[in-house]
Amino acid sequence: MSTNNPLLQDFKFAPFSKIETEHFKPAITEAIQLAKSEIENIASAETEPTFENTIEELEFSGEKLDRVTSIFFNLNSAETNAEIQKIAQEVSPLLSEFRNDIILNEALFKRVKAVYDQKDQLDLTTEQKTLLDKKYKAFSRNGANLPKEKQEELREIDKQLSALSLNFGENVLAETNKFELQITNEEDLDGLPESFKEEAKAVAESKDKEGWIFTLDYPSYIPFMKYAKNRELRKKMAIAFGAKGFHGDELDNQENVLKIAKLRYQRAQLLGFETHAHFVLQERMAETPEKVDSFLNELLEKAKPAAEKEFATLEEFAKELDNIDRLEKWDSAYYSEKLKQKLFNLDDEKLKPYFKLENVIDGVFTVAGKLYGLQFNETSEVEKYHPDVKTYNVTDENGKDVALFYADFHPRPGKRGGAWMTEYKSQYVKNEKEERPHVSIVCNFTKPTKSEPSLLTFNEVTTLFHEFGHALHGMLANTVYPSLSGPNVYWDFVELPSQVLENWCYEKEALQLFAKHYKTGEAIPMELVEKIKESSNFQEGMQTVRQLSFGMLDLSWHAIDPTEVNDVKAHENKAFEPTKLYPDVPENCMSTAFSHIFQGGYSAGYYSYKWAEVLDADAFEYFSEKGIFSKEVADKFKNNILSMGGTEHPMTLYKRFRGKEPQPEALLKRAGLIEK
Ligand SMILES: [Zn+2]
Repeated sequence: MSTNNPLLQDFKFAPFSKIETEHFKPAITEAIQLAKSEIENIASAETEPTFENTIEELEFSGEKLDRVTSIFFNLNSAETNAEIQKIAQEVSPLLSEFRNDIILNEALFKRVKAVYDQKDQLDLTTEQKTLLDKKYKAFSRNGANLPKEKQEELREIDKQLSALSLNFGENVLAETNKFELQITNEEDLDGLPESFKEEAKAVAESKDKEGWIFTLDYPSYIPFMKYAKNRELRKKMAIAFGAKGFHGDELDNQENVLKIAKLRYQRAQLLGFETHAHFVLQERMAETPEKVDSFLNELLEKAKPAAEKEFATLEEFAKELDNIDRLEKWDSAYYSEKLKQKLFNLDDEKLKPYFKLENVIDGVFTVAGKLYGLQFNETSEVEKYHPDVKTYNVTDENGKDVALFYADFHPRPGKRGGAWMTEYKSQYVKNEKEERPHVSIVCNFTKPTKSEPSLLTFNEVTTLFHEFGHALHGMLANTVYPSLSGPNVYWDFVELPSQVLENWCYEKEALQLFAKHYKTGEAIPMELVEKIKESSNFQEGMQTVRQLSFGMLDLSWHAIDPTEVNDVKAHENKAFEPTKLYPDVPENCMSTAFSHIFQGGYSAGYYSYKWAEVLDADAFEYFSEKGIFSKEVADKFKNNILSMGGTEHPMTLYKRFRGKEPQPEALLKRAGLIEK
């Protein structure tokens, strides 16, 4: 089998044309076996453990498995089908079992620890020290140093936690699916866009029901709240949305919230940490809950006055328009949209002709060329997984090979929604041979039609720059070890390269390079650019306070000893007090549907969104000061951030780039919250 399986043969680029779906499972199973025997060789070696024969060997083990699984999971996101999804279900438990076995391998940990314990006597490079620390922590943070019975306690907690998170998520999903708003009186649809009404009618028809049906899914809920004139119906929808997991029935999540918070605390205590947040933040740029707390509070102090002013303006506007006496949560999106239209009247259709996809791609390549000397040449010599995919050879100013770049722009069945960057292969150096990365971005941009090319909305333009910023992090990587290369950095640092590049979309000097009318070639009028900038700051104070409130709620559950907390709603109200703008809705609770932190991996991490904005604004300010195409600043960014990956602590890297720690002032200025 293996000789005929293209995935198990040696290949430079992913051999898409030869891969059949039935190759994946045997290839993954065999690659796991191969990786297992590599690990076993390291663990059972008779020689004295050294950095090379233990840490480095461990780092380079499972290479085949990495290549095969990255092809498989990338396709499962970008070009999937029922068969691939079924295989994903089958191989996922095998892969997590394999990873667990490594972490629980005592003989292996003994050797890793032996190297770690003599780290100060070893003559290691900075990158090697980071790698050693990372490998050691992968074991210690999972209890490898604990006595047997404590280890078992930890496994028990982990088991309970994963069951509780799963149940939390199932409840939220069931609550979302349970509710529908059926409208049979057409007057109640006042304000809704035609196409949106049609969709709601189709939903009703598919369920053999009369009229129009609206649900709590985002594509239905968000436009409804934005456009529906009927205030009572908005109230009904908003309360249903906010009461998920808070009905006191079998789908209620209050017990889950309390149990999860308490078990996470216990787990952290077992491992010697003060709280769950202390545990999480040990591997973050922010480092401690105290630092996150003061970060959030400093921003709140600056944003709150602006938010209160914006709130008063909105309330006044609602009063003028519809005689609303007290602005409630269900009024927010509706009147904000109306006010935004009044102030900016900025229509996507006006902007789109200036953003033909091909022009924007040229633009982002030109920006990368001016900043980092990169050249992109389309190639047909590399295999693709779909004819729509474009492939480029990326070289530097000396013509040296930098990366292979895949770009996949348009939606199709089999591609999940959204936009993302991924890799088929990381950059690394092994046996003194430099391996360059294979980087990919996948998007879902408006397709061309017979009469019109693909014209992007401004939001799509910034999305392309964002994902391309992640791609640069991958392409310009220059490290030795793959697990420290490119975007393999701490969670609250990974969005810096992507978000910083979005800033170029708002700059005249950059827009002039590519934002030209697709028919006339006329450059985008500057008043339109100014309007884009202004409207991007619309209600920035309120938005900021909202994001901060989520970050504070997250910390309120994870940076404390939650043993005595028994009332979820009361706890939450206390956490929301400093950020409160709207009257409380007693029927609603945020925590019982806060999937980011109770189901997904964002616990003690919600602050990262704002943290990344502070970083990108502060970094871009440096570019602005010296010129947005300053070679000096670009070199510093490349040499200290993009090429360095996770080889050093992000704060060290950042300070080397910027000459100082990041400050929130640049963000506050950009957002119009303080004077420029
Ligand atoms: Zn991103």
